[in-house]
Amino acid sequence: MSESGGFAATKARQKCGRAHYYPEATDAEWNDWKWQFRHRVTDIEQLMKLIPIPEGERGIRREVLRDFRMGIPPYYLALIDADDPDDPILRQAVPLAEEYAYRDVGDEDPLGEEHYSPVPGITHRYPDRVLMVISNSCAVYCRYCTRKRIMYEDAVPDLEIDRMVDYIARTPAVRDVVISGGDPLTCSTPKLESILAKLRAIRHLEIIRIGTRIPVSLPQRVDAELCEMLQKYHPLWVNVHFNHPRECTPEAARACDLLSRAGIPLNNQAVFLKGVNDSLEVMKGLVHGLMKMRVRPYYVYHCDPVRGSEHMRTTIAKGLEIMEGLRGHTSGLAIPQYVIDAPGGGGKVPINPNYLLEYDQKKQRALLRNYQGRVFEYYEQVPEEELLRRKLVAERLPAPTAGPIVITPSHGSNGDRGGMSGGAKVRTIGNGRATGATAEPESAAVAPGLVVGKSKWAHRGRARRDQT
Ligand SMILES: *Cc1c(COP(=O)(O)O)cnc(C)c1O
Ligand code: SF4
Repeated sequence: MSESGGFAATKARQKCGRAHYYPEATDAEWNDWKWQFRHRVTDIEQLMKLIPIPEGERGIRREVLRDFRMGIPPYYLALIDADDPDDPILRQAVPLAEEYAYRDVGDEDPLGEEHYSPVPGITHRYPDRVLMVISNSCAVYCRYCTRKRIMYEDAVPDLEIDRMVDYIARTPAVRDVVISGGDPLTCSTPKLESILAKLRAIRHLEIIRIGTRIPVSLPQRVDAELCEMLQKYHPLWVNVHFNHPRECTPEAARACDLLSRAGIPLNNQAVFLKGVNDSLEVMKGLVHGLMKMRVRPYYVYHCDPVRGSEHMRTTIAKGLEIMEGLRGHTSGLAIPQYVIDAPGGGGKVPINPNYLLEYDQKKQRALLRNYQGRVFEYYEQVPEEELLRRKLVAERLPAPTAGPIVITPSHGSNGDRGGMSGGAKVRTIGNGRATGATAEPESAAVAPGLVVGKSKWAHRGRARRDQT
């Protein structure tokens, strides 16, 4: 990974990797997802043998685990640098003392998912799509998880799943289901298949999405058997959850590749997290890492105010600054939509840096700012009074001898007469210089304040004149 190579270069990561933490593990064990799952680190005693924890914090961290579960597969743990107490992978998976200190700050159910729940396990917040929680278990338990409340590792009873399917079957408005959890890919392949088959039998259900962190936390789980099963239930989409470029490993890339080859489009939902990815350098590394694995960055969430996650939350200003640093500076395809899930069930609200500085609908005029901060004046159409004035002038003129005079809202008249078009007229305000259009007025007929660029008409008109 060249992106994360930058991080490695700034800080040599010595104490990490399989050879450091699990020198005894055989290849067969390491590549077996069941071995990985069984060997998850779930208590502080196990953790202390692998990663140093300051003596004064051990008791506190043990207390956290009374409230919130921990689970770290050896593969994911091996990404942590044991020498770095601020390691971004560690911050996501290991309870810190702050998690105890702030254990009563925040909400159990910040998105009010349970208020929008017609049957247990279903959240029906938007008109045409529902969320369906089929598992209370994850490979890794993220410290900032919005659904910390449900992570008890008791299987969701089959009867409950049948009731969820039944709700979708009798609700024709639902054309899209998001299967989430917990992590649906912690279910066995046959169990997941039985759910997908029942959903596919519902005629009005168009698409099925699976939200999973498995390609990040336990990529060994994605195997040929799983992919063969999944591809029977198309159109199927998978949303993954990478937060840091160091998670874009060869193993994760292999898992994503297998899913992609099964025809499943992959989209990433990241979360802005303090000390993990709240910097432009890291976020850029992440989105580039994702693009190389053919994963499209879809959303980046502001961290929800969930109980016990306060230490991971960053500011909206920081989020906006990062979005600003991406737009225009890297591939548009690599830029996710920043969203905040509104409290109490308001749904996802898009948050964007402001590029539309002014917009006067009546004057049909906008002021735009580009990624460099240059400001452009833009007319959707030529102002009406200007069009009218031109029409009057044209009516007084004799019939044209060369070329038509075209007066439409979107095309100006012949360039010989000072062409004006309604399209992309740019004028720079402030320091910058306009590009894409000439900034000098072509004739005195131009309305004051309007700068006319080279519309197609103006250009052709002048070319004809040059020839004669
Ligand atoms: C996020 C979410 C969805 C899916 O939203 P999209 O914007 O379509 O990805 C659906 N239901 C609930 C309850 C959600 O939180
Ligand atoms: S994998 Fe997803 S559902 Fe599971 S703990 Fe992490 S954020 Fe929560």
